[in-house]
Amino acid sequence: MASVVHKDMSSIIAGLTTTKYSLPGDAGYEKARTVWNAMVDRRPACIVHCASADDVADALRIARQHELQISVRGAGHNIAGTAVCDGGLMIDLSPMKTVRIDAEKKLARVGPGATLAEFDAAAQKHALATPVGINSTTGISGLTLGGGFGWLTRKYGLTIDNLVSAQMVDARGEKLALSASANPDLFWAIRGGGGNFGVVTEYEYRLHGVGPEILAGLIVFPFSQAKQVLRQYREFVKSIPEELNVWVVLRQAPPLPFLPAEVHGKEVIVLPMFYAGDAKTGEKLIAPLRKFGDAHGEHIGAMPYVAWQQAFDPLLTPGARNYWKSHNFTELQDGAIDAALEYVTKLPSPECEIFIGLVSGAPNRVAENAMAYSGRDAKFVMNVHARWQTPDGDESCIAWARKFFEAAKPFASGGAYVNFMTADEGDRVRAAYGANYARLASIKKQYDPENVFRANQNIKA
Ligand SMILES: Cc1cc2nc3c(=O)[nH]c(=O)nc-3n(C[C@H](O)[C@H](O)[C@H](O)COP(=O)(O)OP(=O)(O)OC[C@H]3O[C@@H](n4cnc5c(N)ncnc54)[C@H](O)[C@@H]3O)c2cc1C
Repeated sequence: MASVVHKDMSSIIAGLTTTKYSLPGDAGYEKARTVWNAMVDRRPACIVHCASADDVADALRIARQHELQISVRGAGHNIAGTAVCDGGLMIDLSPMKTVRIDAEKKLARVGPGATLAEFDAAAQKHALATPVGINSTTGISGLTLGGGFGWLTRKYGLTIDNLVSAQMVDARGEKLALSASANPDLFWAIRGGGGNFGVVTEYEYRLHGVGPEILAGLIVFPFSQAKQVLRQYREFVKSIPEELNVWVVLRQAPPLPFLPAEVHGKEVIVLPMFYAGDAKTGEKLIAPLRKFGDAHGEHIGAMPYVAWQQAFDPLLTPGARNYWKSHNFTELQDGAIDAALEYVTKLPSPECEIFIGLVSGAPNRVAENAMAYSGRDAKFVMNVHARWQTPDGDESCIAWARKFFEAAKPFASGGAYVNFMTADEGDRVRAAYGANYARLASIKKQYDPENVFRANQNIKA
Protein backbone atom coordinates (compact mmCIF):
# COMPACT_ATOMS: atom_id res chain seq x y z
CA MET A 1 0.00 0.00 0.00
CA ALA A 2 1.34 3.44 -0.87
CA SER A 3 1.60 6.08 1.82
CA VAL A 4 -0.83 8.88 1.08
CA VAL A 5 -1.05 12.13 3.03
CA HIS A 6 -4.69 13.15 2.95
CA LYS A 7 -5.61 16.81 3.09
CA ASP A 8 -9.17 16.16 4.19
CA MET A 9 -8.46 13.86 7.07
CA SER A 10 -11.51 14.99 9.03
CA SER A 11 -13.96 13.60 6.50
CA ILE A 12 -12.06 10.30 6.29
CA ILE A 13 -11.82 9.85 10.01
CA ALA A 14 -15.50 10.68 10.47
CA GLY A 15 -16.06 7.18 9.02
CA LEU A 16 -14.92 5.65 12.31
CA THR A 17 -17.94 4.18 14.03
CA THR A 18 -17.16 4.67 17.72
CA THR A 19 -13.51 5.30 18.24
CA LYS A 20 -11.91 8.48 19.61
CA TYR A 21 -9.25 10.16 17.48
CA SER A 22 -6.96 13.23 17.39
CA LEU A 23 -5.92 15.30 14.40
CA PRO A 24 -2.97 17.75 14.34
CA GLY A 25 -3.85 20.64 16.63
CA ASP A 26 -6.30 18.62 18.74
CA ALA A 27 -5.76 18.17 22.46
CA GLY A 28 -3.99 14.85 22.95
CA TYR A 29 -2.34 14.78 19.51
CA GLU A 30 1.09 16.04 20.63
CA LYS A 31 1.23 13.78 23.67
CA ALA A 32 0.26 10.69 21.68
CA ARG A 33 2.75 11.32 18.85
CA THR A 34 5.65 11.96 21.23
CA VAL A 35 7.74 8.87 21.89
CA TRP A 36 10.53 8.11 24.36
CA ASN A 37 13.37 8.86 21.93
CA ALA A 38 13.44 12.59 21.10
CA MET A 39 15.31 11.79 17.84
CA VAL A 40 11.91 10.70 16.51
CA ASP A 41 9.65 13.56 15.47
CA ARG A 42 6.94 12.26 13.16
CA ARG A 43 3.46 13.63 12.54
CA PRO A 44 0.70 11.15 11.74
CA ALA A 45 -2.27 12.48 9.75
CA CYS A 46 -4.43 11.13 12.55
CA ILE A 47 -4.15 9.20 15.78
CA VAL A 48 -6.88 6.74 16.73
CA HIS A 49 -7.11 6.18 20.49
CA CYS A 50 -8.34 2.59 20.72
CA ALA A 51 -10.16 1.32 23.81
CA SER A 52 -11.07 -2.16 22.48
CA ALA A 53 -10.34 -4.75 19.80
CA ASP A 54 -13.38 -3.41 17.91
CA ASP A 55 -11.79 0.05 17.86
CA VAL A 56 -8.59 -1.47 16.46
CA ALA A 57 -10.54 -3.27 13.72
CA ASP A 58 -12.36 -0.03 12.92
CA ALA A 59 -9.09 1.94 12.66
CA LEU A 60 -7.57 -0.73 10.41
CA ARG A 61 -10.64 -0.68 8.17
CA ILE A 62 -10.41 3.09 7.65
CA ALA A 63 -6.65 3.01 7.10
CA ARG A 64 -6.88 0.26 4.51
CA GLN A 65 -9.86 1.85 2.75
CA HIS A 66 -7.90 5.09 2.31
CA GLU A 67 -4.47 3.53 1.82
CA LEU A 68 -2.99 5.18 4.87
CA GLN A 69 0.21 3.85 6.35
CA ILE A 70 -0.35 2.33 9.79
CA SER A 71 1.78 2.45 12.89
CA VAL A 72 0.98 0.86 16.25
CA ARG A 73 1.86 2.36 19.63
CA GLY A 74 2.07 0.45 22.90
CA ALA A 75 3.92 2.83 25.25
CA GLY A 76 6.17 4.41 22.60
CA HIS A 77 9.51 3.26 24.04
CA ASN A 78 10.99 1.64 21.00
CA ILE A 79 14.35 3.21 20.14
CA ALA A 80 13.55 3.09 16.40
CA GLY A 81 10.36 5.09 17.03
CA THR A 82 8.28 2.76 14.85
CA ALA A 83 5.19 3.47 16.96
CA VAL A 84 4.70 6.71 15.06
CA CYS A 85 4.52 7.35 11.29
CA ASP A 86 4.55 10.47 9.11
CA GLY A 87 1.27 11.24 7.38
CA GLY A 88 -0.41 7.95 8.21
CA LEU A 89 -2.78 6.56 10.81
CA MET A 90 -1.36 5.77 14.23
CA ILE A 91 -3.17 3.17 16.31
CA ASP A 92 -2.68 4.33 19.90
CA LEU A 93 -3.28 1.46 22.32
CA SER A 94 -2.52 3.45 25.47
CA PRO A 95 -6.19 3.49 26.63
CA MET A 96 -6.10 -0.35 26.81
CA LYS A 97 -4.33 -0.67 30.16
CA THR A 98 -6.44 -3.21 32.04
CA VAL A 99 -4.44 -5.78 34.01
CA ARG A 100 -6.44 -8.71 35.41
CA ILE A 101 -4.70 -11.13 37.76
CA ASP A 102 -5.94 -14.62 38.56
CA ALA A 103 -3.84 -15.24 41.66
CA GLU A 104 -5.05 -18.80 42.08
CA LYS A 105 -4.14 -19.89 38.56
CA LYS A 106 -1.10 -17.55 38.49
CA LEU A 107 -2.16 -15.96 35.21
CA ALA A 108 -2.38 -12.32 34.08
CA ARG A 109 -4.45 -10.87 31.24
CA VAL A 110 -2.91 -7.58 30.18
CA GLY A 111 -4.03 -4.84 27.79
CA PRO A 112 -1.46 -3.72 25.18
CA GLY A 113 -1.32 -0.15 26.50
CA ALA A 114 -0.02 -1.15 29.94
CA THR A 115 3.44 -0.10 31.06
CA LEU A 116 5.69 -2.43 33.02
CA ALA A 117 4.96 -0.34 36.13
CA GLU A 118 1.22 -0.92 35.73
CA PHE A 119 1.66 -4.64 35.13
CA ASP A 120 4.13 -5.13 38.01
CA ALA A 121 1.97 -3.16 40.46
CA ALA A 122 -1.11 -5.31 39.76
CA ALA A 123 0.78 -8.63 39.91
CA GLN A 124 2.71 -7.66 43.04
CA LYS A 125 -0.53 -7.15 44.98
CA HIS A 126 -0.45 -10.98 44.99
CA ALA A 127 3.35 -11.30 45.28
CA LEU A 128 3.45 -12.49 41.66
CA ALA A 129 5.54 -11.41 38.66
CA THR A 130 6.81 -12.53 35.27
CA PRO A 131 10.07 -11.48 33.61
CA VAL A 132 9.85 -8.02 32.02
CA GLY A 133 12.35 -5.19 31.42
CA ILE A 134 14.24 -2.99 33.85
CA ASN A 135 12.69 0.42 33.08
CA SER A 136 9.15 0.68 34.39
CA THR A 137 7.83 3.17 31.82
CA THR A 138 8.49 0.69 28.95
CA GLY A 139 5.40 -0.79 27.29
CA ILE A 140 4.58 -4.45 27.98
CA SER A 141 3.39 -4.74 24.39
CA GLY A 142 6.44 -3.93 22.26
CA LEU A 143 8.66 -5.56 24.89
CA THR A 144 6.76 -8.84 24.64
CA LEU A 145 6.55 -8.92 20.84
CA GLY A 146 10.35 -8.60 20.55
CA GLY A 147 11.18 -11.09 23.34
CA GLY A 148 11.54 -9.27 26.67
CA PHE A 149 14.20 -9.82 29.32
CA GLY A 150 14.99 -8.45 32.76
CA TRP A 151 16.04 -9.36 36.29
CA LEU A 152 13.88 -12.53 36.46
CA THR A 153 14.95 -13.88 33.09
CA ARG A 154 17.72 -16.19 34.27
CA LYS A 155 15.23 -18.04 36.44
CA TYR A 156 11.96 -17.80 34.47
CA GLY A 157 13.00 -17.08 30.88
CA LEU A 158 12.09 -14.33 28.46
CA THR A 159 8.74 -12.57 28.63
CA ILE A 160 7.61 -14.62 25.60
CA ASP A 161 8.57 -17.85 27.36
CA ASN A 162 5.77 -16.95 29.78
CA LEU A 163 3.19 -15.93 27.18
CA VAL A 164 0.29 -18.39 27.33
CA SER A 165 -2.06 -16.84 24.77
CA ALA A 166 -2.89 -13.59 23.00
CA GLN A 167 -5.78 -11.92 21.21
CA MET A 168 -5.03 -10.28 17.87
CA VAL A 169 -6.71 -8.29 15.11
CA ASP A 170 -5.17 -9.25 11.77
CA ALA A 171 -4.68 -7.17 8.62
CA ARG A 172 -8.22 -8.05 7.39
CA GLY A 173 -9.70 -6.81 10.68
CA GLU A 174 -10.46 -10.37 11.87
CA LYS A 175 -10.23 -11.06 15.60
CA LEU A 176 -8.13 -14.15 16.33
CA ALA A 177 -7.25 -16.05 19.49
CA LEU A 178 -3.64 -17.27 19.52
CA SER A 179 -2.11 -20.00 21.66
CA ALA A 180 -0.20 -23.27 21.29
CA SER A 181 -3.45 -24.85 20.05
CA ALA A 182 -5.26 -21.90 18.35
CA ASN A 183 -3.56 -20.39 15.30
CA PRO A 184 -0.24 -21.92 16.44
CA ASP A 185 1.69 -20.47 13.48
CA LEU A 186 0.75 -16.92 14.45
CA PHE A 187 1.38 -17.64 18.12
CA TRP A 188 4.85 -18.87 17.13
CA ALA A 189 5.41 -15.72 15.05
CA ILE A 190 4.38 -13.08 17.57
CA ARG A 191 6.76 -14.49 20.18
CA GLY A 192 9.73 -12.49 18.92
CA GLY A 193 8.49 -11.50 15.46
CA GLY A 194 7.35 -8.03 16.59
CA GLY A 195 4.31 -6.22 15.23
CA ASN A 196 4.61 -7.79 11.76
CA PHE A 197 1.46 -9.93 11.87
CA GLY A 198 -1.37 -7.92 13.38
CA VAL A 199 -2.35 -5.80 16.35
CA VAL A 200 -2.28 -7.68 19.64
CA THR A 201 -5.15 -6.55 21.85
CA GLU A 202 -4.48 -8.73 24.91
CA TYR A 203 -1.64 -10.81 26.34
CA GLU A 204 -1.98 -13.67 28.81
CA TYR A 205 1.10 -14.43 30.94
CA ARG A 206 2.08 -17.14 33.38
CA LEU A 207 3.09 -15.65 36.75
CA HIS A 208 5.55 -16.77 39.42
CA GLY A 209 5.81 -16.13 43.14
CA VAL A 210 8.23 -13.18 43.57
CA GLY A 211 8.62 -10.76 46.46
CA PRO A 212 6.98 -8.56 47.49
CA GLU A 213 10.49 -7.98 48.98
CA ILE A 214 13.67 -8.99 47.19
CA LEU A 215 17.36 -8.16 47.71
CA ALA A 216 18.84 -5.71 45.23
CA GLY A 217 21.20 -2.79 44.79
CA LEU A 218 24.45 -1.56 43.31
CA ILE A 219 28.18 -1.69 44.00
CA VAL A 220 30.22 1.04 42.34
CA PHE A 221 33.95 0.44 41.69
CA PRO A 222 36.56 2.90 40.38
CA PHE A 223 37.12 2.73 36.63
CA SER A 224 40.81 1.97 37.27
CA GLN A 225 39.64 -1.43 38.62
CA ALA A 226 37.21 -2.12 35.78
CA LYS A 227 39.32 -4.78 34.05
CA GLN A 228 39.81 -6.86 37.20
CA VAL A 229 36.13 -6.44 38.11
CA LEU A 230 34.96 -7.60 34.68
CA ARG A 231 37.30 -10.60 34.63
CA GLN A 232 36.12 -11.73 38.06
CA TYR A 233 32.51 -11.02 37.08
CA ARG A 234 32.60 -13.34 34.06
CA GLU A 235 33.91 -16.19 36.24
CA PHE A 236 31.49 -15.46 39.09
CA VAL A 237 28.35 -15.55 36.93
CA LYS A 238 29.20 -19.01 35.55
CA SER A 239 28.16 -20.75 38.75
CA ILE A 240 25.64 -18.54 40.55
CA PRO A 241 22.03 -19.72 41.03
CA GLU A 242 19.49 -18.44 38.53
CA GLU A 243 17.62 -16.49 41.23
CA LEU A 244 20.63 -14.18 41.29
CA ASN A 245 21.31 -11.77 38.45
CA VAL A 246 24.19 -9.29 38.16
CA TRP A 247 24.59 -6.84 35.29
CA VAL A 248 27.39 -4.41 34.42
CA VAL A 249 27.11 -0.70 33.64
CA LEU A 250 30.10 1.36 32.47
CA ARG A 251 29.45 5.10 32.58
CA GLN A 252 30.16 8.32 34.47
CA ALA A 253 28.88 8.15 38.03
CA PRO A 254 25.55 9.89 38.58
CA PRO A 255 25.31 11.99 41.78
CA LEU A 256 24.13 9.07 43.91
CA PRO A 257 23.99 9.97 47.61
CA PHE A 258 26.06 6.95 48.71
CA LEU A 259 29.00 7.99 46.50
CA PRO A 260 31.61 10.57 47.59
CA ALA A 261 31.05 13.90 45.78
CA GLU A 262 34.46 13.71 44.09
CA VAL A 263 33.37 10.52 42.28
CA HIS A 264 30.31 12.15 40.68
CA GLY A 265 30.87 12.56 36.94
CA LYS A 266 33.91 10.24 36.92
CA GLU A 267 34.01 6.99 34.93
CA VAL A 268 33.03 4.01 37.07
CA ILE A 269 32.00 0.38 36.75
CA VAL A 270 28.70 -0.43 38.41
CA LEU A 271 27.42 -3.90 39.27
CA PRO A 272 23.63 -3.76 39.71
CA MET A 273 22.34 -6.98 41.30
CA PHE A 274 19.06 -8.66 42.08
CA TYR A 275 18.22 -11.74 44.12
CA ALA A 276 14.69 -13.10 43.89
CA GLY A 277 14.57 -14.59 47.36
CA ASP A 278 15.16 -13.88 51.03
CA ALA A 279 17.72 -11.24 51.93
CA LYS A 280 19.79 -13.50 54.19
CA THR A 281 20.50 -16.06 51.46
CA GLY A 282 21.00 -13.30 48.90
CA GLU A 283 23.57 -11.52 51.11
CA LYS A 284 25.67 -14.69 51.29
CA LEU A 285 25.54 -15.13 47.53
CA ILE A 286 26.57 -11.60 46.70
CA ALA A 287 29.36 -11.37 49.32
CA PRO A 288 32.13 -12.35 46.83
CA LEU A 289 31.25 -9.35 44.63
CA ARG A 290 32.54 -6.97 47.30
CA LYS A 291 36.01 -8.50 46.96
CA PHE A 292 36.29 -7.71 43.26
CA GLY A 293 37.99 -4.40 44.15
CA ASP A 294 37.91 -1.42 46.55
CA ALA A 295 34.43 -0.04 45.95
CA HIS A 296 33.64 3.69 45.95
CA GLY A 297 30.38 2.73 47.64
CA GLU A 298 27.35 0.48 47.61
CA HIS A 299 23.63 0.61 48.21
CA ILE A 300 22.20 -2.87 48.70
CA GLY A 301 19.29 -4.07 50.77
CA ALA A 302 15.89 -5.70 50.96
CA MET A 303 13.33 -3.65 49.07
CA PRO A 304 9.98 -4.08 47.32
CA TYR A 305 10.30 -5.72 43.89
CA VAL A 306 8.37 -2.83 42.36
CA ALA A 307 10.88 -0.32 43.81
CA TRP A 308 13.80 -2.13 42.15
CA GLN A 309 11.83 -2.31 38.89
CA GLN A 310 11.80 1.52 38.96
CA ALA A 311 15.38 2.02 40.20
CA PHE A 312 16.77 2.93 36.75
CA ASP A 313 13.88 5.18 35.69
CA PRO A 314 15.67 8.43 36.70
CA LEU A 315 18.52 7.67 34.25
CA LEU A 316 16.12 6.72 31.45
CA THR A 317 13.59 9.52 31.42
CA PRO A 318 11.84 10.24 28.10
CA GLY A 319 12.73 13.30 26.02
CA ALA A 320 16.49 12.84 25.52
CA ARG A 321 18.11 12.01 22.19
CA ASN A 322 19.16 8.36 22.04
CA TYR A 323 20.98 6.05 19.66
CA TRP A 324 21.64 2.38 20.43
CA LYS A 325 23.68 -0.47 19.06
CA SER A 326 23.71 -3.92 20.61
CA HIS A 327 25.43 -7.27 20.42
CA ASN A 328 24.69 -10.72 21.84
CA PHE A 329 27.58 -12.62 23.41
CA THR A 330 27.93 -16.27 24.34
CA GLU A 331 31.00 -15.38 26.41
CA LEU A 332 32.77 -12.19 27.46
CA GLN A 333 36.13 -12.46 25.76
CA ASP A 334 39.10 -10.28 26.72
CA GLY A 335 38.75 -8.42 23.41
CA ALA A 336 35.18 -7.37 24.18
CA ILE A 337 36.20 -6.21 27.65
CA ASP A 338 39.16 -4.24 26.26
CA ALA A 339 36.97 -2.58 23.61
CA ALA A 340 34.38 -1.56 26.21
CA LEU A 341 37.05 -0.13 28.50
CA GLU A 342 38.59 1.85 25.66
CA TYR A 343 35.29 3.42 24.59
CA VAL A 344 34.24 4.34 28.12
CA THR A 345 37.24 6.66 28.19
CA LYS A 346 35.82 8.41 25.10
CA LEU A 347 32.20 9.02 26.20
CA PRO A 348 30.86 11.85 24.00
CA SER A 349 28.24 12.91 26.57
CA PRO A 350 27.89 12.39 30.32
CA GLU A 351 24.74 10.29 29.81
CA CYS A 352 26.26 7.71 27.44
CA GLU A 353 26.78 4.23 28.83
CA ILE A 354 27.58 0.64 27.99
CA PHE A 355 25.55 -1.97 29.81
CA ILE A 356 25.82 -5.72 29.82
CA GLY A 357 22.71 -7.69 30.76
CA LEU A 358 23.11 -11.29 31.95
CA VAL A 359 20.52 -13.61 30.35
CA SER A 360 22.13 -17.03 30.91
CA GLY A 361 19.83 -19.69 32.30
CA ALA A 362 16.22 -20.46 31.41
CA PRO A 363 16.27 -18.75 27.96
CA ASN A 364 19.17 -21.00 26.87
CA ARG A 365 17.07 -24.12 27.54
CA VAL A 366 14.42 -23.25 24.94
CA ALA A 367 14.98 -24.59 21.42
CA GLU A 368 16.06 -22.01 18.83
CA ASN A 369 13.05 -22.84 16.63
CA ALA A 370 10.47 -23.06 19.45
CA MET A 371 9.27 -19.55 18.63
CA ALA A 372 10.26 -16.69 16.33
CA TYR A 373 12.77 -15.19 18.78
CA SER A 374 16.29 -16.17 17.83
CA GLY A 375 19.52 -15.94 19.82
CA ARG A 376 18.86 -18.61 22.45
CA ASP A 377 22.62 -19.08 22.76
CA ALA A 378 23.11 -15.54 24.13
CA LYS A 379 24.41 -15.37 27.69
CA PHE A 380 25.02 -11.61 27.67
CA VAL A 381 23.30 -8.78 25.80
CA MET A 382 25.40 -5.65 25.46
CA ASN A 383 23.69 -2.33 24.77
CA VAL A 384 25.77 0.63 23.66
CA HIS A 385 23.54 3.43 24.80
CA ALA A 386 24.39 6.86 23.37
CA ARG A 387 22.23 9.47 25.08
CA TRP A 388 22.46 13.25 24.90
CA GLN A 389 20.24 16.32 25.06
CA THR A 390 20.59 18.55 22.00
CA PRO A 391 20.96 18.02 18.21
CA ASP A 392 24.53 19.37 18.22
CA GLY A 393 25.52 16.10 19.89
CA ASP A 394 24.00 13.88 17.18
CA GLU A 395 27.12 13.37 15.10
CA SER A 396 29.63 12.65 17.86
CA CYS A 397 27.28 10.45 19.92
CA ILE A 398 26.08 8.34 16.98
CA ALA A 399 29.67 7.97 15.72
CA TRP A 400 30.80 6.81 19.18
CA ALA A 401 28.13 4.11 19.36
CA ARG A 402 28.86 2.88 15.83
CA LYS A 403 32.63 2.77 16.35
CA PHE A 404 32.36 0.84 19.59
CA PHE A 405 29.85 -1.53 18.00
CA GLU A 406 32.41 -2.30 15.25
CA ALA A 407 35.24 -2.73 17.79
CA ALA A 408 33.20 -5.26 19.80
CA LYS A 409 31.81 -7.12 16.77
CA PRO A 410 34.59 -9.77 16.41
CA PHE A 411 33.73 -11.07 19.89
CA ALA A 412 29.92 -11.12 19.48
CA SER A 413 27.73 -14.10 18.56
CA GLY A 414 26.22 -12.44 15.48
CA GLY A 415 22.67 -12.58 16.86
CA ALA A 416 20.78 -9.40 17.67
CA TYR A 417 17.85 -8.41 19.88
CA VAL A 418 15.23 -6.74 17.64
CA ASN A 419 13.94 -4.59 20.49
CA PHE A 420 17.33 -2.86 20.72
CA MET A 421 17.67 -2.16 17.00
CA THR A 422 17.52 1.39 15.64
CA ALA A 423 15.72 2.55 12.51
CA ASP A 424 18.88 2.27 10.37
CA GLU A 425 19.44 -1.43 11.10
CA GLY A 426 16.87 -2.93 8.70
CA ASP A 427 19.67 -4.97 7.12
CA ARG A 428 20.22 -6.75 10.46
CA VAL A 429 16.67 -8.11 10.65
CA ARG A 430 17.48 -11.34 8.78
CA ALA A 431 20.53 -11.94 10.98
CA ALA A 432 18.45 -11.27 14.08
CA TYR A 433 16.04 -14.09 13.20
CA GLY A 434 18.65 -16.49 11.80
CA ALA A 435 17.14 -19.79 10.63
CA ASN A 436 13.67 -18.69 11.83
CA TYR A 437 13.45 -15.96 9.18
CA ALA A 438 12.17 -18.28 6.41
CA ARG A 439 9.18 -19.44 8.51
CA LEU A 440 8.45 -15.85 9.58
CA ALA A 441 8.46 -14.75 5.93
CA SER A 442 6.03 -17.50 4.97
CA ILE A 443 3.64 -16.62 7.85
CA LYS A 444 3.92 -12.95 6.85
CA LYS A 445 2.96 -13.90 3.28
CA GLN A 446 -0.10 -15.76 4.53
CA TYR A 447 -1.42 -13.17 7.01
CA ASP A 448 -0.08 -9.82 5.76
CA PRO A 449 0.84 -10.19 2.08
CA GLU A 450 0.44 -6.44 1.46
CA ASN A 451 2.76 -5.58 4.35
CA VAL A 452 0.12 -3.45 6.07
CA PHE A 453 2.18 -3.83 9.25
CA ARG A 454 5.51 -2.47 8.10
CA ALA A 455 6.33 0.22 10.67
CA ASN A 456 8.52 -2.23 12.61
CA GLN A 457 11.71 -4.28 12.14
CA ASN A 458 10.12 -5.51 8.97
CA ILE A 459 9.93 -9.10 7.80
CA LYS A 460 9.63 -9.31 4.03
CA ALA A 461 7.21 -11.93 2.74
C1 LIG B 1 14.78 2.97 28.49
C2 LIG B 1 14.49 1.63 27.91
C3 LIG B 1 14.78 0.48 28.62
C4 LIG B 1 14.51 -0.76 28.07
N1 LIG B 1 14.81 -1.88 28.80
C5 LIG B 1 14.52 -3.10 28.29
C6 LIG B 1 14.75 -4.27 29.05
O1 LIG B 1 15.21 -4.22 30.19
N2 LIG B 1 14.45 -5.46 28.49
C7 LIG B 1 13.92 -5.57 27.23
O2 LIG B 1 13.66 -6.69 26.80
N3 LIG B 1 13.70 -4.47 26.49
C8 LIG B 1 13.98 -3.25 26.99
N4 LIG B 1 13.77 -2.13 26.23
C9 LIG B 1 13.34 -2.29 24.83
C10 LIG B 1 11.84 -2.43 24.74
O3 LIG B 1 11.51 -3.78 24.91
C11 LIG B 1 11.35 -1.95 23.36
O4 LIG B 1 11.69 -0.60 23.23
C12 LIG B 1 9.86 -2.15 23.17
O5 LIG B 1 9.57 -2.02 21.79
C13 LIG B 1 9.04 -1.17 23.96
O6 LIG B 1 7.68 -1.47 23.92
P1 LIG B 1 6.59 -0.30 23.74
O7 LIG B 1 5.24 -0.94 23.75
O8 LIG B 1 6.85 0.79 24.70
O9 LIG B 1 6.98 0.13 22.27
P2 LIG B 1 6.29 1.02 21.12
O10 LIG B 1 7.33 1.99 20.70
O11 LIG B 1 4.97 1.53 21.53
O12 LIG B 1 6.08 -0.06 20.01
C14 LIG B 1 7.18 -0.62 19.32
C15 LIG B 1 6.70 -1.44 18.17
O13 LIG B 1 6.08 -2.63 18.65
C16 LIG B 1 4.97 -2.96 17.84
N5 LIG B 1 3.79 -3.00 18.71
C17 LIG B 1 3.65 -2.47 19.94
N6 LIG B 1 2.46 -2.85 20.46
C18 LIG B 1 1.86 -3.62 19.52
C19 LIG B 1 0.65 -4.35 19.47
N7 LIG B 1 -0.17 -4.38 20.50
N8 LIG B 1 0.37 -5.04 18.36
C20 LIG B 1 1.22 -5.06 17.31
N9 LIG B 1 2.38 -4.42 17.30
C21 LIG B 1 2.70 -3.71 18.40
C22 LIG B 1 4.88 -1.94 16.75
O14 LIG B 1 5.55 -2.42 15.61
C23 LIG B 1 5.64 -0.78 17.32
O15 LIG B 1 6.24 0.00 16.32
C24 LIG B 1 13.97 -0.87 26.77
C25 LIG B 1 13.66 0.28 26.06
C26 LIG B 1 13.93 1.52 26.62
C27 LIG B 1 13.65 2.74 25.82
